[in-house]
Amino acid sequence: MGVEWVLVCHGLVTALVVVSFLCGRWPIFEGTFIQRIHYFLTFGFYDYFLRFVGAVFGAKGADAVLSVENFCCDRPNPLLQIIYLAIIGSTYYFVVKSCFAYIPGYYLGDFHRYTSFLAVAVGILLFLLTSFSDPGTVKAQNVSHYLSAYPYDNIIYEEKECSTCKILKPARSKHCSICDRCVARFDHHCGWMNNCIGEKNTRYFMAFLLWHFLLCMYGTVAIGLVLAGRLKELKVVYILTVYYGVENSFLDLAPHVVQWLLGSYNTQILLVVFLAIVAMLLAGFFGYHAKLCLSNTTTNETYKWQDYMDWQRKLKEAQASAEALKQSINGMTSEKRPVVSKWRSFFRRSPLEDVVVVKNNIYDKGFINNIWEVISPLSTRRTLTQTKLKSS
Ligand SMILES: [Zn+2]
Ligand SMILES: [Zn+2]
Repeated sequence: MGVEWVLVCHGLVTALVVVSFLCGRWPIFEGTFIQRIHYFLTFGFYDYFLRFVGAVFGAKGADAVLSVENFCCDRPNPLLQIIYLAIIGSTYYFVVKSCFAYIPGYYLGDFHRYTSFLAVAVGILLFLLTSFSDPGTVKAQNVSHYLSAYPYDNIIYEEKECSTCKILKPARSKHCSICDRCVARFDHHCGWMNNCIGEKNTRYFMAFLLWHFLLCMYGTVAIGLVLAGRLKELKVVYILTVYYGVENSFLDLAPHVVQWLLGSYNTQILLVVFLAIVAMLLAGFFGYHAKLCLSNTTTNETYKWQDYMDWQRKLKEAQASAEALKQSINGMTSEKRPVVSKWRSFFRRSPLEDVVVVKNNIYDKGFINNIWEVISPLSTRRTLTQTKLKSS
């Protein structure tokens, strides 16, 4: 098997593992082998490993593994932060090592040596900002402030006390069990950032996702242009057509050019594949969060709404079927039964199909206001502080 096929298989396996691991729970993959690979990577593998350790080293070995799991997954720890820095650092190192020799090149100016460094530095800065900024911790001292910023909707949020912090839980907040604190407008706990994503750092998190998507796209296009430049500078097409007698058409030249690139520039090709896959994943993740921001919802609230809608749907379905049953009993007992045409009864919709559940999100104030709320969090606005001062 040639080097190029090893590289193609490597790329496909990497893509499959990364996509299955990160996106395997998406509804479009339900029932597919991607979902099964996801299950194996996230749960099955660990379960087999735990049983293996238990069988070989006994209960003490299994306990040791469980305490490591507790440290890695249930307590704040910098493991994924270190992995992020290692990934971005090593990727940039390989880009510098394999591509900077060809910059400036036929298509790329000298300044890309500096802009690439700047782009990575901004990425790391956004990472640090998201990781170490306050997500909007709710404490006894500021709880009244958050309570006035986020009123209860009495649908998915009702007045309730946090059983751990012993303070009132403002609407849209949640107690993070990993960080052990209540966070305003809680979105999720991000392991990569080792921090909660909440009211005050959603803006940095969104900027981080968008910037890293652009960074990966920049890398993909720039390395692509480095390779295109090498093709031009070494007159590969000219040599292939004149010396090797290859027909001067795209379809005839493409396999030879790809073979030449895979043979001479395999590191750069691997980097392009890796960056393109990460860019696609980041685009999906950013798109999902942008949709939430535009409708002023959080990841945490999507689950709450899902539960509420399911419950409402079941309630209304039960009411509709009770009503239908009542009507049919009435119909059977009444002497004068209305004559219903067979055609009409055939096309009549079931009462269950008419069940409509409306999602009434009172926090949704229109696209512009919703985006502004992410950029300038409600609790940090001066108007809110002034109204509070006036009322007190
Ligand atoms: Zn709490
Ligand atoms: Zn947290």
